[in-house]
Amino acid sequence: MTEGLDRERWLNDLRQRVPETTAADALARQLGGALLIDVREDNERATGSPEGAVGLSRGFLELRIEQVEPDRDRDVLLLCGSGQRSLLAGEALQRMGYRRVHSVAGGMAAWKAAGLPVSAGALDSDAAERYSRQILLPQVGEAGQAKLAAARIVVIGAGGLGAPALLYLAAAGVGHVTIIDDDRVERSNLHRQVVHADARVGMGKADSARMALLALNPRVEVRVVAERLRAENVETLIRDHDVVIDGADNFATRYLLAAATRRLGIPMVYAAIERFTGQASVFDPRRDDSPCYRCLFPEPPAAADAPNCAEAGVLGVLPGVLGLVQATEALKLVLGIGQPLVGRLLTYDALGMRFRELTLRRDPACPGCGPDAVFNGYTDLEHMCAAAL
Ligand SMILES: [Zn+2]
Repeated sequence: MTEGLDRERWLNDLRQRVPETTAADALARQLGGALLIDVREDNERATGSPEGAVGLSRGFLELRIEQVEPDRDRDVLLLCGSGQRSLLAGEALQRMGYRRVHSVAGGMAAWKAAGLPVSAGALDSDAAERYSRQILLPQVGEAGQAKLAAARIVVIGAGGLGAPALLYLAAAGVGHVTIIDDDRVERSNLHRQVVHADARVGMGKADSARMALLALNPRVEVRVVAERLRAENVETLIRDHDVVIDGADNFATRYLLAAATRRLGIPMVYAAIERFTGQASVFDPRRDDSPCYRCLFPEPPAAADAPNCAEAGVLGVLPGVLGLVQATEALKLVLGIGQPLVGRLLTYDALGMRFRELTLRRDPACPGCGPDAVFNGYTDLEHMCAAAL
């Protein structure tokens, strides 16, 4: 009882020295140029913080405040959970010479009760550290990182293209990754499919890739689909994703993907490789000016003309280069930055070490997206190898 009274007296004493402000007044001051600092712990801020507030935990306040705000004459507003820790924080800043410090009475609880703007999902300390070099980019920032965390990307094939794409998407913090692959890891895959490991030869590729992704970044939700993409499941499996990465090794899957992404309005990031060369492009059905895969390849080749997957050779690093082009395009699409590879076919020649770019236009006679194109349902083509992936 005595202890409780002591604490009350002590808090009242603090209130005499550190002026309080209401949440609504704090917002008005913030809009007028004051700095609002949320001094709660990282995990508390992870569920939301006042819009525009700087997150700086109470424990690090004195150590880092000068980096955040060297001007001791600036209006500084401090907010915590209920308005007590912010009083302590205010006293600490006053001791450091900050002259215009206020504590937000009632803290975050009062801020929310007043219906003031909250930015969801401020980064916790793991995310802030993990993605720090990326968040430093003004084109990404915390807002971009939150977009990545909310993004859903499906990668078709955990093979040569999918391997680097998956690793870098997970590393970058794409929150939801779906891997579709019904193959098993073979030793002959490992010179290029670097998401797998020697110890996982014989394991399903999607499961093996998932293990690598979670080891790299346990924050990512990885969904495994050990099925082959077919006419009857293609829409179900790729719907509800923001981007489709085509790392397929066969024409049957690629034509299915081309049709389904077009119908569902999902951008398809395409790449193909063979021996020492590769190519990549983005087909974005949300854009009127974007060609589709069939503007480039109207009809599948005759089975006799397709290469034999098991016999076609490939330099191990080659799909790595193209898979990373795909990952780059996927991240750009999610973040909404840069110029996507839409309407352009990027070609890569490893032996000459040359990148070239061809303009791709929509084909008015395209059987996939032209005005006379007719969709008669999905068809399962004969399984023909598109390259050695
Ligand atoms: Zn087309």
